[in-house]
Amino acid sequence: MIMGNGCTRNCKFCAVPHQPAPAPPEEDEPARLTEAVVRMGLRYVVITSVTRDDLPDGGANHFVAVINALHQRIPDIKIEILTPDFQGKLEPLQTVLEARPTVFNHNVETVQRLAKQIRNRATYECSMRVLANAAQISDIPVKTGLMVGVGETDDEVVTTIRELHAVGASILTIGQYLPPSDNHWPLQRYVEPEKFTEWAEFAREIGFSFVVSAPLVRSSYNAAEALDAVISPNSR
Ligand code: SF4
Repeated sequence: MIMGNGCTRNCKFCAVPHQPAPAPPEEDEPARLTEAVVRMGLRYVVITSVTRDDLPDGGANHFVAVINALHQRIPDIKIEILTPDFQGKLEPLQTVLEARPTVFNHNVETVQRLAKQIRNRATYECSMRVLANAAQISDIPVKTGLMVGVGETDDEVVTTIRELHAVGASILTIGQYLPPSDNHWPLQRYVEPEKFTEWAEFAREIGFSFVVSAPLVRSSYNAAEALDAVISPNSR
């Protein structure tokens, strides 16, 4: 996770500390991160960040610096970026996509009815617009993720899956929400494993190239395998 450990937002499900005015991104972070990736011998990395509403570009150029540093040092590295919504602005989105990450990921997190309550300043509509724009302006696979157990109904999950597909997402993760503490959004239910399987089957039926849906799934789960499935659809 880049650009610090304090977030300008304050989502009710998230353990990242709230910081209205975090320090500027560190200029040597791209080089340090690249060195860590080299030392660990990674071939696929997921780069995410806190939301930086305080920065004019939302941190897009820092994402680009990281992508470029990785590409320069490890030309065949696969890079998935998991970005904030950039407040729905097109320019930062274009900026990060022009750096040619391998996969673009932005999590919708929850269903439309609950988004305003638990995602602070992020909205369902804005996330859908980000995904739609990413799918329209580039050929980079678009990925998204949903957590369940926060108060959604099964029908709302199905509707959300359908709408995510309609805007152009091709990779989907669904996992069980677990509150980080008693002060966070309370758990509403544990979803049965069979229900996760049902949603995965539905998502594949309507056209998602790759779906992982199970209680312990998180956004980066089997990320490299997801890419393989998108590149070679018969392998899913
Ligand atoms: S924007 Fe992301 S990092 Fe920030 S509080 Fe919300 S979920 Fe956590």
